[in-house]
Amino acid sequence: AESNGKTEIKFQLPEIKFTKLFINGEFVDSVSGKTFETRDPRNGEVIAEVAEGDKEDVDLAVKAAREAFDHGPWPRMSGYQRGRIMMKLADLIEQHLEELAAIDSMDAGKLFHIGKIIDIPGAAHTLRYYAGAADKIHGETLKMSREFQGYTLREPAGVVGHIIPWNFPTTMFFAKVAPALAAGCTMVVKPAEQTPLSALYYAHLANLAGIPEGVLNVVSGFGPTAGAALTSHMDVDKVSFTGSPEVGRLVMQAAATSNLKQVSLELGGKSPLIIFDDADVDKAAELALVGILFNKGEVCVASSRVFVQGGIYDAVVEKLVEMAKNWPVGDPFDPSVQQGPQVDKVQFDRILSYIEHGKREGATLLTGGNPLGDKGYYIQPTIFADVMDNMMIAKDEIFGPVLSLMKFKTIEEGIARANATRYGLAAGIVTKSLDIANTVARSVKAGTVWINCYFAFDNDAAFGGYKMSGFGKDNGMEALYKYTQVKTVVTPIYNSPW
Ligand code: NAD
Repeated sequence: AESNGKTEIKFQLPEIKFTKLFINGEFVDSVSGKTFETRDPRNGEVIAEVAEGDKEDVDLAVKAAREAFDHGPWPRMSGYQRGRIMMKLADLIEQHLEELAAIDSMDAGKLFHIGKIIDIPGAAHTLRYYAGAADKIHGETLKMSREFQGYTLREPAGVVGHIIPWNFPTTMFFAKVAPALAAGCTMVVKPAEQTPLSALYYAHLANLAGIPEGVLNVVSGFGPTAGAALTSHMDVDKVSFTGSPEVGRLVMQAAATSNLKQVSLELGGKSPLIIFDDADVDKAAELALVGILFNKGEVCVASSRVFVQGGIYDAVVEKLVEMAKNWPVGDPFDPSVQQGPQVDKVQFDRILSYIEHGKREGATLLTGGNPLGDKGYYIQPTIFADVMDNMMIAKDEIFGPVLSLMKFKTIEEGIARANATRYGLAAGIVTKSLDIANTVARSVKAGTVWINCYFAFDNDAAFGGYKMSGFGKDNGMEALYKYTQVKTVVTPIYNSPW
């Protein structure tokens, strides 16, 4: 089927039940009484009015989290007890799977059939992974010397602020919340203003599961107001941020000029996929295309720069263009669709302006380049060839379905050009040669390297950036440790024989 972007599917949309701030175990209006609209990117229509949190609301939420940390049961429970409650939350998420997937589809334009098998069950898996780890947070014993011995304790970091983006509202929420809960932290989550709805629903489910009041607070609102209040708060011990490098800088500045809170940043990417001459053409083309079009390109690890070695360049390009032309774009509730609308008008306009830049800069537009349909924020899968490393479309994160193709000759050239970016989030390598794969995997400056695969995530696999893609990991035990601090305890030892 030709990409069309026109089909609108009849689907019984869920009623939106949770639109207020969740503070200290209760849904409340914002102090100002203000609300903001969240819209459906399929048609631009308002889905709901959501409470707009600002500094006063963040103050209340942090106060509740502080109280819950300093005096409440959560950090004092055994890890096993915390884990059991987290398991219950995982079960509740699975019981509401369809409704939650539908909410993210309406709010973010994400594919409903993917949400049902990846995002929402993935959230339950993430909770169970960290629930199982909650009673296995170990320190070390230190023999030290003849006079002293010691041990280390991993204590919870304290009150955490989580600031999350709109592209994976559910996955990002639990990538941050689950390890922090397991560690015994209390927290305030500021979801993205484009996609606040599922986060508020999770607050309700957390409450049902028995997470005590004040442990998990959700304050919906905007970045410069609610987000900034969290990052500059004197009583927040740590901020975990995922979003753009521009805002990442502001987060660090706010931490530096307030209480020097710990910061971890998961920022953007311009990830290279490097395809070598010995690769299977069809498989390589498929990895490249899915790598850029999954979640309509609104993915921080999208394979937005594809380097193809000269010997198979023409064959890969031909296959890629053919697949892109047949890629089904349309209503995210249609199970045959692979690409829904961009999250909002701002993102839609931004992507189209990058496409114009690409044309003006002299790249060759092989396919796509235009919006689709007469309503909603649909964009054709777009492929540029003859992209030079210094063009804007090769340097900036576009965060949309726009692929830049580059041709290279030698392995050394491929590595050097793949690394010629300020980002370092992920990279892909397609080759049958173990030597090439190993050499390139070690040489590429990225936090995750996928060999003959792409988007292969796992709860156990640490994920995060090199360079300006940030620091501090999500996923794996690394993420759990991120929400702890190490205390060293030393005692003297008398009459030790050695
Ligand atoms: P963004 O930086 O504009 O917003 C992210 C979050 O920060 C939102 O919740 C926003 O409200 C908040 N925010 C904005 N200004 C703020 C301020 N002054 N102080 C505190 N908080 C503030 O990014 P976005 O447009 O929502 O998301 C897209 C970006 O996120 C892309 O660059 C993408 O690569 C990145 N991203 C990275 C990862 C990762 O894991 N590395 C994952 C998803 C998205």
